[in-house]
Amino acid sequence: MDFELSDELLALRDSVRKLAQDKIKPRAREIDESGEYPQDIFEAFRDADLLGLCIPEEYGGSGAGILGLTLAIEEVTKYSNVTGLMLLLTRLPTGPIMIAGSEEQKLKYLPSIADGSKRSAFGLSEPGGGSDVAGMQTRATPDPDVEGGWILNGTKCWISGVRQADWFTVFAKTGEPSSRLHDSITGFIIDANAPGVERPRFDKKMGVKGVDTGELVLNNVKIGPDDVIGAIGGFRLAMLGLNAMRPVVAARGIGLAEGALMYATEYVKNRPAFGSTIASMQGIQWEIAKLATEIEAARLLTYRAAWLADQGKFTKEYVPQLSMAKYYASEVGVKASGLALQLLGAAGYMEDHPTELWYRDAKQLTIVEGTSQVQLGLIAKGVLGHDLWWD
Ligand SMILES: Cc1cc2nc3c(=O)[nH]c(=O)nc-3n(C[C@H](O)[C@H](O)[C@H](O)COP(=O)(O)OP(=O)(O)OC[C@H]3O[C@@H](n4cnc5c(N)ncnc54)[C@H](O)[C@@H]3O)c2cc1C
Repeated sequence: MDFELSDELLALRDSVRKLAQDKIKPRAREIDESGEYPQDIFEAFRDADLLGLCIPEEYGGSGAGILGLTLAIEEVTKYSNVTGLMLLLTRLPTGPIMIAGSEEQKLKYLPSIADGSKRSAFGLSEPGGGSDVAGMQTRATPDPDVEGGWILNGTKCWISGVRQADWFTVFAKTGEPSSRLHDSITGFIIDANAPGVERPRFDKKMGVKGVDTGELVLNNVKIGPDDVIGAIGGFRLAMLGLNAMRPVVAARGIGLAEGALMYATEYVKNRPAFGSTIASMQGIQWEIAKLATEIEAARLLTYRAAWLADQGKFTKEYVPQLSMAKYYASEVGVKASGLALQLLGAAGYMEDHPTELWYRDAKQLTIVEGTSQVQLGLIAKGVLGHDLWWD
């Protein structure tokens, strides 16, 4: 067992740390206040070759894998969670293509994500429900005019990056809409400019502002046979894509928690009280120690999950380990944002400090890509089925 990162990954982490301190830290508050997409940060990521971290070298990426992406996201989310989301979006919609796409699809869609000339987004959730994926109502029916083609109708919602996306990975029912069979759902690539693609509304949300979420409406959108991802019947593909993403979302939790604890610790060390400082009090020190322990536990789970995903170990038997990372790291992110705010007292509640921003941003993490309750359900299934360390 080796707990050391390779020299390449250490160099990546150090360079992203510097970029985050120089370019993201000073912009975080502004991005939240304006709610405008931080194109300058996107360009900084592009110039530093960070948009293709998880994309293999043969498709224009750097091949740093999920672990490389995880480390980069951890660094940038110390200062701004929305910038972590921007990096995450290089993997979420491309994942199904990397897992099950054709060679033509990989060559067509991956290099332009890696070089920043295109952006994409991922449409799974619907107004009728996000957790219950099999209950989706977006429907694909065979195109009578094109052999192997499909016509899509339906509404996807809360799609991160919906406004900037040039194309979408979308899942739709190719079977009966009422069917809950796993082979009734298939993945498609949809051009944002195709006739019938509409983005009618963007959400007003409590945090992670700067990258819009919103609705994607599909009105008789025609899909050619080349834009079907993998085989017809791709519910398993949607799940594999999400399983491999668990460490990537988890990285946003640990980065936020680390940023919040670093900030609050410096504050309490310098805050005079009762003839000493807030940091000198044992009750405060124990809270800091407990949170630091939980962050380390979350980091270990997250790095192991990233390592598993990079080994291709994101099939059913690895679900508990992957879900533990997402569940625990996102809950630690929420906890850390609350403790950091508390440690600053009234100052932490005001916009003079980033704590209130982290507090608003953190909550998204326990909802997206499988809520905490959904992750607990997956972990429980693994425990009950003795998928873990059972004798
Ligand atoms: C900021 C943001 C960005 C997002 N980005 C995207 C995106 O890019 N693409 C996309 O497709 N979706 C996106 N989503 C949607 C997200 O994936 C869903 O919100 C999530 O899957 C939960 O679905 P839901 O909101 O419909 O909650 P519901 O499924 O209605 O759940 C409501 C509550 O019930 C609980 N619950 C549900 N099922 C169970 C169960 N079996 N056992 C116990 N409790 C349960 C849930 O944990 C939750 O607390 C985003 C959401 C947010 C907030």
